[in-house]
This record gives sequence, C-alpha cells and structure tokens, in this order.
Amino acid sequence: MHDHLTHKEKLMASATLPAGLETAVDCDVVFPGQPGYETLRRVWNADIDHFPAAIVRCRQSRDAAAALRWCTANKVPLTVRGGGHNLAGTAVADGSVLIDMGLMREVTVDRAKRRLIVGPGCRWGDVDRAAEPYDIALPAGVVSHTGVAGLTLGGGVGYLSRMFGATVEFLEEVEIVTADGVVRRVNTQSEPDLFWALKGAGHNFGIATQFVFRYVDLPGLATVRLALYPADDRREILRRFRELGPAMPDRVGTYVRLYRCPEYWSQVPREHRGKPVISVATVTYGDPAEEPALSAPMFAHGTPIYQSLRSMPHVTLQHSTDDEFRYGISHYWRHVAFRELPDELIDTAIEHSDAYPGRSLNSSAHIAHQVMCPFELIAGKLTPRNHQNDSTSGIHSRWGGNIGADWEYPDERPELVAWVKRFTAAIAPWENGTYINFTSEQKDAASGRQVYGAKYDRLAALKAKYDPANVFAHGLVALETAPAGSEWAGK
Ligand SMILES: Cc1cc2nc3c(=O)[nH]c(=O)nc-3n(C[C@H](O)[C@H](O)[C@H](O)COP(=O)(O)OP(=O)(O)OC[C@H]3O[C@@H](n4cnc5c(N)ncnc54)[C@H](O)[C@@H]3O)c2cc1C
Repeated sequence: MHDHLTHKEKLMASATLPAGLETAVDCDVVFPGQPGYETLRRVWNADIDHFPAAIVRCRQSRDAAAALRWCTANKVPLTVRGGGHNLAGTAVADGSVLIDMGLMREVTVDRAKRRLIVGPGCRWGDVDRAAEPYDIALPAGVVSHTGVAGLTLGGGVGYLSRMFGATVEFLEEVEIVTADGVVRRVNTQSEPDLFWALKGAGHNFGIATQFVFRYVDLPGLATVRLALYPADDRREILRRFRELGPAMPDRVGTYVRLYRCPEYWSQVPREHRGKPVISVATVTYGDPAEEPALSAPMFAHGTPIYQSLRSMPHVTLQHSTDDEFRYGISHYWRHVAFRELPDELIDTAIEHSDAYPGRSLNSSAHIAHQVMCPFELIAGKLTPRNHQNDSTSGIHSRWGGNIGADWEYPDERPELVAWVKRFTAAIAPWENGTYINFTSEQKDAASGRQVYGAKYDRLAALKAKYDPANVFAHGLVALETAPAGSEWAGK
C-alpha cells in the first residue's frame, strides 16, 4: 500500500487513527515513532515491511477484546500477531491496529490432566522447554522461534507428527475473542463447529488468547542421520525415496533436499563444493541402538560425499536449526502437496532446483540436517490420517514439497520470486493442494476454495456466522461467506 513512500512518509501515513485507543485498553500501546515501534512492527520474514497505525501489547484476553471492540466501533482494520513467523506477514498491515500477543508467553504443564496450557504469544521453544523436564512433548514445528498460534491455527506438523499426528489433533480447547468482542472457550462440546474451523482455517475467526493441548510421552532420543550425495545420484535417490519414504516405520521421518553445496562446507570434498547435491536425512525416535537397522534402507544407494550421525534429546533437536532459519533474511516460499512422484515430476524438480538464481545463505560451516534450500521433499505415510475432524489443508498428502527462495539484498528479490513462480507453474500438473502455513501470499476467495476443497463451503458458512463483516480479513486465505445454494448457506 505504501511501497513508493520513504520510511518517514510511511511512518506519517500510518499515524492516522482516531483518538482514544490507549484509554480503551488496559495495556501498553505503541504508536509510530515511539520507542519500540520499529522492533515491534517487524516479523521473521525481512521481506515484510509494514507500518501499523498502533501496536497493542496485550497482557490478558480482555486486552485483546477491548482492542477489538475499539477497532470495530471506530471502523479501524486490525491484524493479530502470535509469533510473527509467517512467510506472508499477514500478522502486520499498513495503517491497521496490530493486536500483539507477544507478551502472553506462559506455559503451564497440568500433569494430572495431561494437558499443556499455552499462551498465544508462545514460540515452540517455550513449549518444548517447559515440557522437557517431564519427558513429554507436543508434535509441532521444527524451528524453536516459530509461533504456537499461527502454526496451530493452520494445522501444524513437526518431527513427531509421523508418529502422533498434526498439532491440531492434540488441541482440546481454544479461548478466543470473536468478532463480536465476546471471549469464548471453544471445544468439542462448546461451539464444536467453530472449534472445527479453528483447527486449520483458524486465522480467519478471531483472536486466540489461550490454547489447551493434550501431550504425548516422549518416545526416547532422536537420532538424526544425514548423508550428502553428488548431483549424478539425484534421480536414483529420489526414486528410492519415493518407494521407501512413505513405508518407513512411524518413528522414522524422512527428508530429501536439493541444493548447491556451499563453498565453505570444508567437510565435503573440494570437487563437490559449489555444485548441486542431494541430502537425505532421517529422524528416528527411540533407542539409538535400533536406529541403524531402521534407517538403513534410506541410505542403501550410492556413496555419500559426507555423512553424520547424532543422537540427542527432542528439545535439542527442536533448537538445532534455529540459526539456519535466523531472523533478518527475506523469503518467498511455496508449499506443494503431491499424491504421487512420477519420474517426470522428479526431473522437473531437479531442473528447476538447478536453475535457482540465489546464493547459499546457510549460516555457518556446520552442516545441519535442515537447511534453507530451493527444494525439499518430506514423505508422509502410506495411510494418511483422517482429517475430517479438522479444517486442515495440504498436510494429508503422501508428499510435501517446499520451494524456497531466500535473499539478503532487495535487488535479488525479483529474480528469486519469479523463479518460485516458474517452479510452481511447472509442477502444477501434480499439485494436490497446499499447506497454507507455508505460503508467501495471502489467497483470494477463489484460491481459498482450491486450498480447502470440500471443506470450503462449511468454512464460509461459519465465517458468515461468526465474522459476517470480515473483521479478521488478514487470515492466510480469504473466506467469502457461504455462497447461495451451497449446502451450508444460511447455517
Ligand atoms: C522457519 C520456519 C519454520 C517453520 N516450521 C514449521 C513446521 O515445522 N511446522 C509447521 O506446521 N509450520 C511451520 N512453519 C510455518 C508456520 O506454521 C507459520 O509460519 C505460522 O503462521 C507461524 O505462526 P506465528 O504465530 O509465528 O505467525 P504470525 O505471523 O504471528 O501469524 C500468522 C497468521 O496467524 C494469525 N494469528 C497469529 N496469532 C493469532 C492469534 N492468537 N489468533 C488468531 N490469529 C492469529 C495472524 O493474523 C496471521 O494471519 C514454519 C515457518 C517458518 C518461517
């Protein structure tokens, strides 16, 4: 909206609120130009450069409700921020009131009920560290600074999901402020339809102010095995991955990545540095002594140019790639789900990965099992879980693919974004949905229908019921209200 303006002009253009917000709420409000504003308006993706008109720093749910009521009474648009980690940056918008949950970071472990009660500003690291002393965990995101709120409301997957399921499968209750300003506790008994919608399309329905999850007992240590292979092996390794990945035991997660080996990875023989490589990684939970036999099939082909093996506690694994995915870098990503991986798709993926116009932005000489890379594939399971109990999209498919462009300097952007779009178009014939939490662009209603498929009309009907004026217009996918004639119209 303000792209052609200077920084100062953007600041001034943002400062256009009616008076009274700071007296309407019982917590701090930060306005453009005030101390803290520049830090607080930023999100993880440095490509996002939005200037909110005010930032409300909620300390409790009633602050969120008061801010919302003030915004609707004054017809001021609002956005909501949990961890601020989303690629699309929909948590912050020019000229809007940013309702920031960042100070509400409490985690309570209820051992008697086997529940985790989690504040809406928490990052996954907060949850993992609170759970670790009890040898318990929640299946969720793999980078510790990712926010709980946005991830959960979109579905949520992580290293433990193959064994246990998506994050929303562990969600028992959400406290939420809906568009009418009412604070509700929503679960399978109380407003079950809204609860269903919150588990996958939840960014569109309110301000979540608390999450209650069931937890799981940790299934032992995590053993991470990584091998890098030269470019010539890529086709064969991808074909083997296609056959083996989905059929691996539940406790073995499998990941394959295509990228150019950084010049400074001195552990890799010199002749392969700067050249395309393929990495295969497995994450296996349980007794490390059992790991070699379990993961062996994934590494049976070819001669690796680098290998590593490490066993570690789950909480260490969850923090192990934080630096690779550090703050301050710009990104444009797209998630694509696939039902099948035919040879033609494999060839197309290799061709487009090789054409990646970016640089390797890995943080250090340490070879991590996860890196920012142009293309990543994750194998799901042979029997995907039933996701009718939630509104998730794109996480049920056999294969998940992430196309990712990352850069430091703005003049690198156009070429990289164009590359993601070309790649996405080339593999479109095989696309079987997308996971909205991994998309860099907010979708319009037409693509919302595409993303949510058969679930879309029910979501639109619930949107009409709970947010008819579209107060929460900054969800990751725009929802129209139920189209006339649909099964859900008028419900
Ligand atoms: C490096 C990286 C790693 C990731 N790893 C994983 C992973 O392992 N698994 C996975 O499933 N996803 C992963 N993601 C995607 C992640 O799920 C999304 O980025 C998610 O949106 C982050 O949540 P957040 O609270 O930080 O987002 P925010 O940017 O704060 O918000 C995202 C959206 O949710 C809305 N929102 C935020 N808080 C609330 C709230 N309290 N109430 C209502 N709406 C709210 C915002 O308005 C916005 O539309 C990863 C992303 C990155 C960048």
